[in-house]
Amino acid sequence: MLDKKPFEIARETLKQLTANKLAPTPLNYQRIYNEIANVPNEPAFPAERLRDIALALPTKTPGQQKQRGLLESAINQLNWDGVKNALMAYGGFSPPAPAPAAAPPLVNIPKPVTVLAEPAAPVLTAPALTADFFGQIARLIEYAQPALGNDDERFLEQTKTLTTALRQPDANAVAVKQLLTSYGHRLSFAAEDQAEIKQVLLKLLHLIIENISHLSMDDEWLKGQVDALMVACLPPLTLRQLDDVEQRLKDVIFKQTEAKTRAVQAQEEMRQMLAAFIERLGAMAESTSSFHTQMETSAKLIEQAKSLTEIAPVLKDVVGATRQMAQDSQNARDTLVGMQNKVAATEAEISKLHQELDRVSAQARHDPLTGALNRQGLDEAINREVSKVRRMDTPLCVSLLDIDNFKKLNDTLGHATGDVALTHLAKVAQEVMRPQDTLARYGGEEFVILLPDTPLDKGIEAMTRLQRELTKRFFLAGTEKVLITFSAGVAQLASGETGVDAIKRADQAMYLAKRAGKNRVLGA
Ligand code: GH3
Ligand code: MG
Ligand code: MG
Repeated sequence: MLDKKPFEIARETLKQLTANKLAPTPLNYQRIYNEIANVPNEPAFPAERLRDIALALPTKTPGQQKQRGLLESAINQLNWDGVKNALMAYGGFSPPAPAPAAAPPLVNIPKPVTVLAEPAAPVLTAPALTADFFGQIARLIEYAQPALGNDDERFLEQTKTLTTALRQPDANAVAVKQLLTSYGHRLSFAAEDQAEIKQVLLKLLHLIIENISHLSMDDEWLKGQVDALMVACLPPLTLRQLDDVEQRLKDVIFKQTEAKTRAVQAQEEMRQMLAAFIERLGAMAESTSSFHTQMETSAKLIEQAKSLTEIAPVLKDVVGATRQMAQDSQNARDTLVGMQNKVAATEAEISKLHQELDRVSAQARHDPLTGALNRQGLDEAINREVSKVRRMDTPLCVSLLDIDNFKKLNDTLGHATGDVALTHLAKVAQEVMRPQDTLARYGGEEFVILLPDTPLDKGIEAMTRLQRELTKRFFLAGTEKVLITFSAGVAQLASGETGVDAIKRADQAMYLAKRAGKNRVLGA
């Protein structure tokens, strides 16, 4: 059989097709041909189709770019294992350990026929393979570069020289190896530096936060935020955590600035009042002492007077001075009463400011019970995501979930247990969703989840996953195990649609999910 020539195999194939009364389809022909030729019945390698798929994969992160590059070169090499590994790595799974290389075939097996043959992909020759391999190393180095910082100019230059050398069509392997060795040496230092910089920055951040808390121990809200900040920046850090730290720091800074302005303002008013009081006191002392002098002079004149006519003008002066003195006292009293009123007004003003600040704090971006974003935080987050959608043309899903029969839970187990249920749901959601997803408390027992880079079917899947997870994880109310379920609607942001409108559509779908019997997820 092995010695058969291709035209003999083809003839035999046609005979068998007729003998077995098989329809002369390309697939039947291929199967019989391969059986006769004794080669595995493998379908053709669909290089062009796979290339189309590779081209459609987004390459927004260096990791994605790298895996797409690997996928393309696996396609060029008609390498199914390479395609599988690259796709798994692109999806965030580690590829299986490579199987030991297969031994080369000992006999000359005819190539399987590929009836629906795609245009043959170029098989890489040894120099082309080397160039491809060097190209991959160059890409790898470029992807790693942002993580190493760009402060060290010599290292940047070295990187550039190496990647240029790697991309030369006739790259010399020995020279490249030398460059790679010295690059590797410097890379080890750069990586160590970056790790240390990260640690030191984190320490500094802790110091700053601690310092803020010492400055503001009298303010309960601020203290709560600072405690949350300390927890949020404990390693290992994720991008989501850092985002949370940023939001909380902004809140703290805002509140600090307000508090400082308020304190400076109150201090200035007090200073002005004190200055006016001292001035008044001085004026009073002055008028009192000139009154005394006047009285003493008048007394002397009266003592020395020999007739009533001499006394009369002196008495007139005494009456005038006394009247002036009484007037001055009245003025001073009026001023002091005015100042007292002003102090009271300032006090009222400061207390109003306090209330206002508490109101503003309540409007800060986080819901204090669940730690999820509140309405204000959600508004900001959804604006950010919607503009990202407009910029990058990626799908965004908005989901609205409402806990089922929550009123009954409150009524039977108490409001405090209701609160625990809300916190429990938020915790499970934060754990199940991806770091780039956003959880916000929309109202009492309603939450909104933003799912960037997610088309509708995947958004529904994600919410169903959360629903399943929640049915597995109960919480305890005393000794009683409590399970909660929710109904949710998911809407994919349509082109030109606002975030608010997408939430409205998700809300309508959630309402339909309730009507359909609750504990389910519906797409809008
Ligand atoms: P459905 O399945 O149709 O959603 O019914 P439900 O009982 O969940 O919904 P309903 O709107 O009738 O009741 C919501 C309840 O949520 C009423 C309110 O007292 C309670 N609630 C709102 N906010 C909080 C909160 O912060 N803590 C607690 N414990 N309960 C809350
Ligand atoms: Mg509700
Ligand atoms: Mg409800």
